Amino acid sequence: MSTTVTRQIVHIDEDLCNGCGTCVSPCAEGAIVMVDGKAKVVKEELCDGAGFCLGVCPTGALTLEYRETVPFDHDAAAPIIAEKKANYIAQHCFICGASEDDAPLLPVRKAGDSTWVCTRCLPQLIHG
Ligand code: SF4
Repeated sequence: MSTTVTRQIVHIDEDLCNGCGTCVSPCAEGAIVMVDGKAKVVKEELCDGAGFCLGVCPTGALTLEYRETVPFDHDAAAPIIAEKKANYIAQHCFICGASEDDAPLLPVRKAGDSTWVCTRCLPQLIHG
């Protein structure tokens, strides 16, 4: 018998999902996979509900919901996180080109695109 808990977890609106796959990479735990051209949380125990995927979705298909599901499985996620870290391609700030190895990056929406901005360039993005 499996235990369930009430917690925060990612919800994907299939009608809004265009299958771009952009949300797969930000998910460190590998919870989001593409199935038949749509993003899906196939193993809910791998979704920690942190929501790092939300900011990169160009269509607003990703939201967080609070509902009953299986607990987050740290032990199952750990080897996936380690593998993704080993093969990770660092993202870059669209303004200065800084790598996320140089400065923290934040996802932003700009002129219909999803992109990244570093914390050093964020003030000029806000204030012009
Ligand atoms: S980023 Fe959004 S539109 Fe693209 S695959 Fe993920 S849920 Fe679908």
